[in-house]
Amino acid sequence: MANCPFCEIINGQAEASVIYEDELVMAIVPLHAPYPESAVVFPKQHIDHFTDLPKSLATHVMNVGFDIGQKIMREYAPGRIGMGVHGYGVAHAHFNVFPQNHPFDVVFRKMAYVKEGEVKFAFKNLPIPSRDAMDAIAERLRKD
Ligand SMILES: [Zn+2]
Repeated sequence: MANCPFCEIINGQAEASVIYEDELVMAIVPLHAPYPESAVVFPKQHIDHFTDLPKSLATHVMNVGFDIGQKIMREYAPGRIGMGVHGYGVAHAHFNVFPQNHPFDVVFRKMAYVKEGEVKFAFKNLPIPSRDAMDAIAERLRKD
């Protein structure tokens, strides 16, 4: 797809530091990563939403990311490995794999607050829904 940085890499129109490639997926070192020892894995087919991938392709993307996560752990020994799909950034489904060395290396904007002029993060700022609300969500997610 035009103007898609991942498609440009797949098509050889942009350079990348390739970690892994097969007929279905590619894994590279991302340009804009919080930590350089990160990876982003994406299918070679341009599909915007990760949840629109065929399940077998999504599983393959995540399996490649899992293997790279183990490699990051062996090579760089961070405290933890984070993995995730956040759905923003490049509009081409992708799976992020990154080292973590602090509980707040991955944060949600709802965790942020300002204290004494500094932005801080805490889980205490995340609302805890009622049991009824959580049961209603669980019931809705159990449906086919
Ligand atoms: Zn694309």
